[in-house]
Amino acid sequence: MRNDNDTDIDGRAVARRLLEDVAEGVGELKRSRWSPRLLSVRVGGDPAVDLYIRNQKRCAEQVGIAFEEKRFDSDTSLDVLLAAIHAMNIDPTVTGVILQRPIGGNLSIKALQAAIHPLKDVEGMHPASIGNIVYRELDLGPCTAMAAVELLRSTNVPLQGLEVTVIGHSEIVGKPIAFLLMAEGATVTVCHHMTRHLAVHSRRADAVFVAVGKPGLLQSDMIKPGAVIIDIGINQVLDAAGSPKVVGDCDYESCRKIAGWITPVPGGVGPVTVAILMRNTVIAARRQRSQYERQFDGTGAEIRP
Ligand code: NAD
Repeated sequence: MRNDNDTDIDGRAVARRLLEDVAEGVGELKRSRWSPRLLSVRVGGDPAVDLYIRNQKRCAEQVGIAFEEKRFDSDTSLDVLLAAIHAMNIDPTVTGVILQRPIGGNLSIKALQAAIHPLKDVEGMHPASIGNIVYRELDLGPCTAMAAVELLRSTNVPLQGLEVTVIGHSEIVGKPIAFLLMAEGATVTVCHHMTRHLAVHSRRADAVFVAVGKPGLLQSDMIKPGAVIIDIGINQVLDAAGSPKVVGDCDYESCRKIAGWITPVPGGVGPVTVAILMRNTVIAARRQRSQYERQFDGTGAEIRP
């Protein structure tokens, strides 16, 4: 899906299309008295999280999903946080839990993430959800990775046999992207901070995904003419006038002259990530409804407060 700019992939338009289906799904859930309710868990006061929460809340309200914030000080103990998450897990009115990243303090993000019940893991970050994508079970896939692949799909470039280079191999972004693309039949090369000659890999790719967190890492002489560039990076830099602005990991202005397609930052992966989060919220609520119906041999509506 292109916007006015010839090579741009319009993430906001892709998100709008996804959210239309999400709103329908929310309506159906509400009619069966199984309203989705999303809880955001924030630990500490990292200012980057404010923006994420604002975007998620706005999007949730737009599609009719109840969104609530739970804030904890960065010196909250792991035990207290685990107990709070457990309470959310057993509360049938809570259908999704989001752990906002980064978390403050010296807490183990993995321990907290793993504590969220897999059925309520709307971010798709629980070890079980990450493991599922290896088996091509994508119901609750990790949001950013799913969003990045959705943007590639929106170009209608055939994925089977596509040569793709993924730069960045984190558990939550780069690695899941590689698995999702392999499931689509692409040939995937994964690069990271120890990769020698990054440009050798990026230059021969039909599509490059970059998720590193380094502005300007991907330059126009590192890509093949006509390639699709999916830029997942989010970096705050100062513009020429000294004002803060957000940019991705690729040098957008030079790369867009060579690329066939490119995602802008902002307006590319970000809005689609939030839309996938909402879609996962609907899927999670449906799965919980089915689970309760099976468990209690009745309708979900009867056992929900
Ligand atoms: P991370 O720090 O966990 O991982 C960074 C990855 O980059 C690692 O695999 C590392 O090996 C690799 N790397 C570092 N230097 C490199 C180099 N010079 N060449 C090649 N690879 C290099 O980061 P992350 O959590 O995966 O996030 C990556 C970026 O994506 C960040 O900018 C983050 O803000 C952004 N992000 C965006 C979204 C979204 O919704 N758009 C969501 C999550 C993360």
